[in-house]
Amino acid sequence: MNKQRVAKLIKELLVEIGEDPSREGLLKTPARVAAAYEFLTSGYRTNIKTVINNAVFHAEANNMVVLRNIEVFSLCEHHMLPFFGHCHIGYIPKKKVIGVSKLARIMDCHARRLQIQERLTAQIATDLMKAIGAEGVGVVMECRHLCMVMRGVEKQESVMTTSSVLGSFHNDAATRAEFLSLVGRSGGG
Ligand code: ZN
Repeated sequence: MNKQRVAKLIKELLVEIGEDPSREGLLKTPARVAAAYEFLTSGYRTNIKTVINNAVFHAEANNMVVLRNIEVFSLCEHHMLPFFGHCHIGYIPKKKVIGVSKLARIMDCHARRLQIQERLTAQIATDLMKAIGAEGVGVVMECRHLCMVMRGVEKQESVMTTSSVLGSFHNDAATRAEFLSLVGRSGGG
């Protein structure tokens, strides 16, 4: 990402929305916004293989592993406004487990892009499945979308839930129910 070029575009945007980019409070804003976007879209410049980087380990255990309440922040691709909330990731290993912090890193790699929540949820599940060849994988995400809260229908309390289930989490109702109950969503949904 060319930060200088992005800063120049932000300066033009400030003029278009009716601001004066030369007033004191805004002098450094274009550069700050460019730096913020570099971070918020860093997923485009992150290689998932580097992220996982040797953190896959052999293990005979085949119990369900669940990481709950991972904070997720992303930008909706329709309005470039934040959506944020919590993500729960679970899997049943088949001879391979992954370092637990890597679950959050896989999530961030996809969250730090322009996204829709449905695709983000599915990409996390697919990447995890690809990385460890699990018996099953499940991802549930609950987010509030600022494009709905601040504008549009202005529904401040609405939370959108998406899920993606693969392997035994998809094929076996009991496994899926166990996962949903572990992430506090028993009864399905
Ligand atoms: Zn939106």
